[in-house]
Amino acid sequence: MSDVVSYRREDEVGLIVVDNPPVNALGHAVRQGLLEALDEGLADPSAKALVIMGGGRTFPAGADIREFGQTPKSPSLPDVIDAIETSSKPVIAAVHGTALGGGMEITLGCDYRLALDSAKMGLPEVNLGLLPGAGGTQRLPRLIGARAALEAIVEGKPMKAARLAEMGIIDEVVSGDLEREAIAYARKLVAEDAPRRPVSALSVAAEDADVFAEFEAAIARKKRGYLAPFHCIKAVKAATEMDFAAGMARERELFVELLNSPQSAAQRHVFFAEREAAKVPGLAKDTPQREIRRVAVIGAGTMGGGIAMNFLSAGIPVTMLEMKAEALDRGVSVMRRNYEASARKGRLTTEQVEANMGRLWTTLDYADLAEADLIIEAVFENMDVKKTVFGELDRVAKSGAILATNTSTLDVDEIADATSRPTDVLGMHFFSPANVMKLLEVVRGAQTADDALATVMALARRISKVGVAVGVCYGFVGNRMLHKRQTQAVALVNEGATPSQVDRVLYDFGLPMGPFAMADLAGLDVGWRIREGLRETDPANAPARNWMDALAEAGRFGQKTGAGVFEYGDGGRTPEPSETTAAEIDAYRAQQGITPRDVSDEEIRERCLYVMINEGAKILEEGIAARPLDIDIVWIYGYGFPPYRGGPMFWADQVGLGLVCDRIRTFHGETGDPDWQVAPLLEKLAGEGKGFADL
Ligand code: NAD
Repeated sequence: MSDVVSYRREDEVGLIVVDNPPVNALGHAVRQGLLEALDEGLADPSAKALVIMGGGRTFPAGADIREFGQTPKSPSLPDVIDAIETSSKPVIAAVHGTALGGGMEITLGCDYRLALDSAKMGLPEVNLGLLPGAGGTQRLPRLIGARAALEAIVEGKPMKAARLAEMGIIDEVVSGDLEREAIAYARKLVAEDAPRRPVSALSVAAEDADVFAEFEAAIARKKRGYLAPFHCIKAVKAATEMDFAAGMARERELFVELLNSPQSAAQRHVFFAEREAAKVPGLAKDTPQREIRRVAVIGAGTMGGGIAMNFLSAGIPVTMLEMKAEALDRGVSVMRRNYEASARKGRLTTEQVEANMGRLWTTLDYADLAEADLIIEAVFENMDVKKTVFGELDRVAKSGAILATNTSTLDVDEIADATSRPTDVLGMHFFSPANVMKLLEVVRGAQTADDALATVMALARRISKVGVAVGVCYGFVGNRMLHKRQTQAVALVNEGATPSQVDRVLYDFGLPMGPFAMADLAGLDVGWRIREGLRETDPANAPARNWMDALAEAGRFGQKTGAGVFEYGDGGRTPEPSETTAAEIDAYRAQQGITPRDVSDEEIRERCLYVMINEGAKILEEGIAARPLDIDIVWIYGYGFPPYRGGPMFWADQVGLGLVCDRIRTFHGETGDPDWQVAPLLEKLAGEGKGFADL
């Protein structure tokens, strides 16, 4: 008898209960147990109907993802579901918690489905670069039609019980005690002599022939570069064109293709990496956390407002401090406008907008920050200004308050030293727009206390961010790698590429935009001011003036001024090639004596991406990031690196570190540029035939 699936009978109803905590995942033992319990139920002459349910907190929540990539062990989930569907007695799925993926597919193999009102079901396989491979793509269209099935399978979102009932997936929504309700429902079916109702025997309702082409067109932009959503569409289409057995074979074929694809390997890596990133190596799991009830934000500019919104939206009151009342008013009205825009899109109710804004307090007086448990500074990027602010915070903040800086480039340890309590200081590096971008680099200073770090890592999740712990260095993890890529992008243009070509290559790789469109979005003035500053303070180490400086000097700051590297007609956001920029580039080349050459797309791709990988390896060596997966998560959530490539370090492994290392050596030989000096860690791994994943 299985110890994870049990069988017992209540009068004429046989109950099959899966008990495999924490989420009743459908690993081998559960699949085997389900078959045995089913046999027992079928052999039990007194059982007239069977109920399948989950013990503990949920119906089987899904496949055991850790079994992916291992040799499949029989019985497979499709076999189990087939046995359920062809059984001689009616089978009822009784769902509570979340029946996702394989869990939902089991319910589709049952004759009847009943669920608690709080239950959710869905087919999220697409998010792991897969498709529902246990009949989901064949049974769901038979149950609810191709169009609705496409939405559920391609979107991959969990759906609530009420919606599932509306869609015709669930027959009965109940509340209270699920087991009692399920038995009552089963008895009713037995009394009515209700028939078996195998979904596979249904035919798919006739649909408009264009539905698949239309659906593909509708997702083309959002799912650009992804394989799985388009395979999902093919599988559902097969359900409308083939009989059930042939459709199942087609589903299997498409599933196996995805399972063996680099994309699914990458997306599964991201799934685990995101969860792993939350656990900081060396930080004990039971590290105590400080209580965060009130937050303060210093500076109501671009970042301060967005940062504050994250807390307000999570129900945490915020006090915002500025130097002048006008700056506060401006900041507050931008926040309100952002919330109201979300309300117009239906993402918030007007009551929620008011509730969020109602949690916001403003002040010009540091004394009003005395109650804050966490204070985040987002003032100008200037060390003296920051030190003055932290001096004030040291004076007014209560004992135990966490003091955080949102600096992008300044030394967090130096800022900490401006206080008498450096153990309470750390960096919280949000990404712009701070209310939207999911990444939060949590910068651990030399003296940051463990409990302060643990508190902020947990808080990240509370405000729906993905926190990644990083160490102190210029640019931390994300921007440090970005700067290296930017230098290559400019050099490639100097040598003969066009900005449009460079951007196209990286866009086609799957990034949301290329380096020059990104520079235009951030504002060319930002980098220009930094370079100008260096030219004044440290001319020996300052970069030579180039065509990007010329553009900024001419007031071409990017999107916000309608022109930068590209032109943006009529306040638009679409970058168009610019003749002015081309002329500046020509002038720069002439002045430098550069004869432009043809630069291949391949060279652009290699130089822009391999330079990041080399820097990533240095970041690992220095312990700025603890693990390659931390770097991957930074790039996926901070810069839109395509999840189907798994992040830069995972992707490098897929390319092969031997090859990456060879190319980096070649670039170093050609240029002597220190950015191309091979990182010893990369050299070592490549030499041993290993990847970053082996670290
Ligand atoms: P910003 O100029 O838009 O806003 C800064 C605000 O701070 C202004 O409203 C200013 O009035 C206020 N301020 C300045 N000195 C102050 C003081 N002594 N006391 C109180 N308020 C003061 O700048 P921003 O883009 O929001 O950047 C703020 C910080 O965030 C910087 O450290 C920056 O490096 C960092 N950062 C910016 C971005 C970005 O993309 N803009 C991204 C990540 C981090």
